[in-house]
Amino acid sequence: MRLALIAHDELKDEMVAFVTAHADALGECELVTTGTTGKRIADETGLAVNRQASGPYGGDLQIGGQIADGAIDGVVFLRDPLTAQAHEPDISALLRVCDVKDIPLATNVASADLLVEGLLGDG
Ligand code: PGA
Repeated sequence: MRLALIAHDELKDEMVAFVTAHADALGECELVTTGTTGKRIADETGLAVNRQASGPYGGDLQIGGQIADGAIDGVVFLRDPLTAQAHEPDISALLRVCDVKDIPLATNVASADLLVEGLLGDG
């Protein structure tokens, strides 16, 4: 199972808490992340991550490309709905390709919990 994990700056603490809560199940997966999100996860949970570029430098597009290739089974993208993001077009492209490929995508912690429960059986 390959999961993509991405969090905007205001939600990185929540992402670390989410990964910590599901560490056993997520430890069985390959975790593909954007740059800063992945650094926080690796440093604070000890899990291995496959880090792409930082989101504003194309990391969202790199992950979107992997989704287009059929190489990602699910995406947790903790988005900040209150802050404008310079790379919004890249984010929209990533969300769109999830819909094109029918890949499960969670954009908040409540749905992310359901995603790992559904995909990994970790409720
Ligand atoms: P980051 O990118 O993990 O490198 O901060 C996430 C994003 O901004 O989309």
